[in-house]
Amino acid sequence: MFNRAAAIIERDADEIREWIQNEVGSVSGMTAVEIQYGTELVRQGAALCASPRGEILPPMKPGQKNYARRVPRGVVGVIGPWNAPFMLSLRNVAPALALGNAVVLKPAPQTPVSGGVLIARIFEEAGLPAGVLQVVPGDGPTGAALTTDPNINSIAFTGSTAIGRTVGRAASENLKPVQLELGGNNAYIVLEDANLETAVDIGLACSVFANGQGCLVIGRHLVHENIAEEYAATIAAAAADVKAVDPRTNSETMQGPLVNQKQLDHAVDLTRRAEAAGARKLVGDPPEGLYFSAHVYDDVAADNPLFLEETFAPVVGITSFKTDEEAIALANASEYGLTCSIMTSDAGRAMAIADNIRSGNIHINDVTSLAVAWAPLGGVGYSGNGTAFGGSADLDAYTSWQWVTQS
Ligand code: ADP
Repeated sequence: MFNRAAAIIERDADEIREWIQNEVGSVSGMTAVEIQYGTELVRQGAALCASPRGEILPPMKPGQKNYARRVPRGVVGVIGPWNAPFMLSLRNVAPALALGNAVVLKPAPQTPVSGGVLIARIFEEAGLPAGVLQVVPGDGPTGAALTTDPNINSIAFTGSTAIGRTVGRAASENLKPVQLELGGNNAYIVLEDANLETAVDIGLACSVFANGQGCLVIGRHLVHENIAEEYAATIAAAAADVKAVDPRTNSETMQGPLVNQKQLDHAVDLTRRAEAAGARKLVGDPPEGLYFSAHVYDDVAADNPLFLEETFAPVVGITSFKTDEEAIALANASEYGLTCSIMTSDAGRAMAIADNIRSGNIHINDVTSLAVAWAPLGGVGYSGNGTAFGGSADLDAYTSWQWVTQS
C-alpha cells in the first residue's frame, strides 16, 4: 500500500506541485524537494512496516518468557505547518500509519489541500482502509481540540515555537506524548579555510530557500574576520541578482512571494528593527506586494534582533568572529537549537567545533536544510522538546513500550 502511494505521488507530481505553488508560493526547486522527500517518506513507511518491534529480555525465573514490544500509540493527532505542507505532513502521517496507528491530520489553514486533502486522496487510492486517516481542516481551535480530545493518544506538531509551546502545554496537561518540531535560528559557521565560493552559494541558498520561511534556513552567518568582508561582498552581489517573482511563470527563480500579508509584515518589521539596531544593509529592495527580495546585512551584533530572532524571511545577517571559541559561543548564543553547518577544509577542526555546538543537527560542509526519511531530525531549546522525526526516532514518536511476561 505504501509503495502504491509512492507511485501515485510520482504520477501526480505536476498536480501536487501546482497545489503547493498556489497555496504557498513555493519555487519549483522547493516543490521538487517536497515531492522527492514526500515520496521517500512514504517508501520509508513501507520499510518501517517490517521493522523490528521489540526486545527479548532475560527471564526473571526459569521458564519465564520476558519481552518488551513496541505497540502503536493508537490515534496520532498530526498538526501540520504551511511552509512545506506536503512533505512536513507526510513526515508524520506516513510513519505513524506504518507503525500501526490511525491518524487525524489537521493541516494549516493556509494549506488545506497540499498539506491535507492531497495526502488523504493519495492514501485512499493506494488502498488504506477507510477511516484510518482522517483530515480535519481548521485553524487554531481545531488543532487545540486534538490536544485535549481523549480519543487522540499522542500529538506530532510542526510549526512555530509560540504555538508549539501552547500545544506542548495542552498535550502535557492531558498526559499525551507530544513531539514538537519548532523554529530555528540556525548558525552557519564559515572558517577562513573554507572554499569561499561554495560557502557563499550554500549560505545564500539556505537563507532564501522556501522564501526564507523555513525552520532549517540559515539565520546567522558567522564568518571568520579574515574573510568576512569578501564573504559579505560576494553574497551581496549574488543576492542582488535574486529577484522574487511568480514561480508559476518562472520555474528558474530562487524566490517567489511570501505566503501572506502577516509574513510580509513580519519581514518588513524584522528588517526595520535590524537596521535600527545598527545592522548595515548591503542589499534589499522595498517589497512589491508579497514579493520580498533577498536582503543582506553586515555588522550584525549579537544583540541585534536579526541575530536573536528566527528570521522566517529571506534575510542574510553576517556577524564576524576571531577564534573558534568565539564562533562556538556565538553559535550557542541562541534560545534555539535546531541545525548548524560548519564550512572548513579542516575536518578535525570542524569536529572539535561540532562537539561543542548545542543543536539537534550538525552538518559539516553542507547545507543546514538537509532532511532525509531515515535520519532523526529534531531540535533542542526553543526548537523542540528534544524529540525527533525520521529513522529510528519514528519508533519513539509513534509507538509505546509494552512489557510482557509469561510464566
Ligand atoms: P502561524 O500560521 O501563525 O505561523 P504555526 O505555523 O505555528 O502558526 O501553526 C502551525 C499549526 O498549528 C497550524 O496548523 C495551526 O493551525 C495550528 N495551531 C494554531 N494554534 C493552535 C493551537 N492553539 N493548538 C493547536 N494547533 C494550533
